[in-house]
Amino acid sequence: MNFLQQQDPDIWTAIEAEATRQREGLEMIASENYTSPAIMQAAGSVLTNKYAEGYPGRRYYGGCEHVDVIETLAIERAKKLFGAEAANVQPHSGSQANTAVYLSCLEVGDSVLGLDLAQGGHLTHGMKLNISGRLYHFHSYGVDPKNHRLDFDQIAKLAREKKPKLIVAGASAYPREIPHDRFAEIANDVGAKLMVDMAHYAGLVASGQHNSPVPYADYVTTTTHKTLRGPRSGLVLCKEENLKLVNRNVFPGTQGGPLMHVIAGKAVCFAEAMTPEFKAYGKAVVENAKTLADTLLAAGLPLVSGGTDNHLMLVDVTALGLGGKKAEAVLDQCGITVNMNMIPFDERKPMDPSGIRIGTPALTTRGMGTEEMKRVGGWIHQGLSHPDDSALHQTIRSEICELCKSFPVPAERCN
Ligand code: PLP
Repeated sequence: MNFLQQQDPDIWTAIEAEATRQREGLEMIASENYTSPAIMQAAGSVLTNKYAEGYPGRRYYGGCEHVDVIETLAIERAKKLFGAEAANVQPHSGSQANTAVYLSCLEVGDSVLGLDLAQGGHLTHGMKLNISGRLYHFHSYGVDPKNHRLDFDQIAKLAREKKPKLIVAGASAYPREIPHDRFAEIANDVGAKLMVDMAHYAGLVASGQHNSPVPYADYVTTTTHKTLRGPRSGLVLCKEENLKLVNRNVFPGTQGGPLMHVIAGKAVCFAEAMTPEFKAYGKAVVENAKTLADTLLAAGLPLVSGGTDNHLMLVDVTALGLGGKKAEAVLDQCGITVNMNMIPFDERKPMDPSGIRIGTPALTTRGMGTEEMKRVGGWIHQGLSHPDDSALHQTIRSEICELCKSFPVPAERCN
């Protein structure tokens, strides 16, 4: 019996429509993915009924014996997966993981360095409306105007001038590998702590495609739903000596009861990420991104930094006489989902910037490879080159729908 369809057809119909969208189109938002059916099952389980404030063995509620097993497994698996001394698996999101770390090592008004939002940083790295920018004195570093790579001379200079208590590394829209050792060197020189927010590339770290921040950083935070392919959530990794403070600043500092159903999903995700299949997945994500980037470059589309080392790329669509907003809408018509994005030194506004961000994690999960990426690159170029040709967009959409039939999404494979 379909309980939801019977009880609440409006919600059921919208969920079905979203499932169709995810099945029949190309999901290329760099921060999205398809979780496994096992993770979906854990996240949709009876655990959503349970309150469990506190930590395993030290709860403020009765009946926690089973959720204690689950949270302990999640912690142990997270530590093993990333080689970390300690882990807190309770943050509801990446933003809450970051906030808990800030509360653990900063006082209101302290000086912090983070990557400029307009050059690839995240809201939680000091944007003025975010709690990070409201409580702390963030100074933004950026990329080199010539090659769009992190400008370590500028970062070192800023660190000497501003004497930050914390340096935040990590990004939401940076297409290159981040050298954590260089951040650690600068933090050491100025006596700052280092936090690495690996939200975007955690799955690449887990699969050995990106260097790990764990040996270099005092705190590592991540989301679990991007390249890591888990449920929508957050995680903090740290040294054993910092765990007590981190725990206190997750609960009761910023959250109440943990979402035990999501923690169970994270435990399943961490186990999946330790398999040989996940290693192969990470490698394929990067190969696919490189092939797609090469295809777009060959078609004459300029990419920020000239390419990619990871799972994403940023295309400057102004070269085609478009803004990012229109480019996103055109690709939507074609059945390709991306997001408009600022590019470094953008002269346009955030609501209609110069770029779009494109990622390969979700298509790689469907099993698409480099041959498919060449076709996808062709469609992107064709669609964007004829932004007002609705008939062409419909043709592309049909061709994409046909391709998608050969690459079922994980939930479909179980039917
Ligand atoms: N950190 C980075 C680098 C991100 O890209 C994101 C999300 O896009 C976050 C943190 C925040 O994650 P959430 O949306 O789960 O709060």
